[in-house]
Amino acid sequence: MKESLFKIYDEMGISRTLADRADEVLDALKDRFAVIDETAEYNQLKVLKAMQEARVSEGCLHGTTGYGYNDAGRDTLEEVYAGVFHTEDALVRPQITCGTHALALALMSNLRPGDELLCPAGKPYDTLDEVIGIRPSAGSLAEYGITYRQVDLKPDGSFDLEGISSAINERTKMVEIQRSRGYATRPTLSVERIGELISFIKGIRSDIICMVDNCYGEFVQTVEPSDVGADMTVGSLIKNPGGGLSPIGGYIVGTRKCIENASYRLTSPGLGKEVGASLHVLPNMYQGLFLAPTVTASALKTAIFASYMLESLGVEVSPAASETRYDIIQEAIMRDPAKLIAFCKGIQAAAPVDSYVTPEPWDMPGYDDQVIMAAGAFVSGSSIELSADGPLRDPYSVYFQGGITWPHGKFGILRACQELLKV
Ligand SMILES: *Cc1c(COP(=O)(O)O)cnc(C)c1O
Repeated sequence: MKESLFKIYDEMGISRTLADRADEVLDALKDRFAVIDETAEYNQLKVLKAMQEARVSEGCLHGTTGYGYNDAGRDTLEEVYAGVFHTEDALVRPQITCGTHALALALMSNLRPGDELLCPAGKPYDTLDEVIGIRPSAGSLAEYGITYRQVDLKPDGSFDLEGISSAINERTKMVEIQRSRGYATRPTLSVERIGELISFIKGIRSDIICMVDNCYGEFVQTVEPSDVGADMTVGSLIKNPGGGLSPIGGYIVGTRKCIENASYRLTSPGLGKEVGASLHVLPNMYQGLFLAPTVTASALKTAIFASYMLESLGVEVSPAASETRYDIIQEAIMRDPAKLIAFCKGIQAAAPVDSYVTPEPWDMPGYDDQVIMAAGAFVSGSSIELSADGPLRDPYSVYFQGGITWPHGKFGILRACQELLKV
């Protein structure tokens, strides 16, 4: 590292010893980072190609108000998403408020009373418990007479194919597969494995709708679940595909029929995709998608760098440093509340926004244990920006993700490691 870099790291609270260690770690990561850059290059061209083919023009960046009839920018953006994901259609809207909303919309619009939903790869993301009615909730699928079945992964992480085939019955209308591990301990599924699972299910009954929760997975590989047979692929724009710029929104890409159903539920039967003003968010949604491949690469480098740095400090990490990544989430098992808190303080101190505040554990609604969160993001709650959180309970794991530029991700991890060394 150059002396001028050491100097500014020193001014920002990073010791020479830690900066030297970072140099060593990065030397050994050159080949892995080259692969990430190559994936980003491919995905950058994929996005560019979709934008050019959809003839994105300056006029597309102007929004509409009111009903939003004839919102060419909105319609073209949806065409771009369909182009990137290679699907018949797409629904990409600021009116989809978050990832959970996008997932709920995909489920509720395509299931009818008497249908059954199957999760063939274990329990879905926590916030879907109340959507599905796993935890009783007003307005859940269960309340509408839509039943739920789940087949867990086998202890070795493989699909329980026998269990899945016996769970499928004449009422099984849809399966939901979560790509990312989220905040669970199971491994993240590669797009290839998702493809194998979809083929297996379609082999039993080809009319079962296969839906994938793609949160945190977009642009990590050169293929997406929609390339391997998913009928609906769903995610949040304040994660990977928003590129850190989208201030709100969610997407569903998939078959014409599934998207039509989703649009009728998002707005109203009969109106569908024809209404929904884009207001002033289109420039950020377009530019965010344009940046998303390299932003995701930065987040991926940050996660891998963090795992090596932490392992070198004797902290157990999951996925392990050397493991191949299929999403951007990293878990570090601190086994000590003081270390969990110190790590989060370091991430906060490295943020561009609210760097001077100190995160404290608090009693978050809906959680039994106190939770500590570190985020100093331009977009509130954005988890493609560098952020960390963890519940104050054994084994005191911190989950972190994001980093919209690699130099910031690197600095954030070093700052967090520096705090850890003080414990
Ligand atoms: C973030 C996430 C969600 C939910 O998204 P929100 O925007 O927080 O509602 C769903 N599934 C997975 C795997 C996620 O990572």
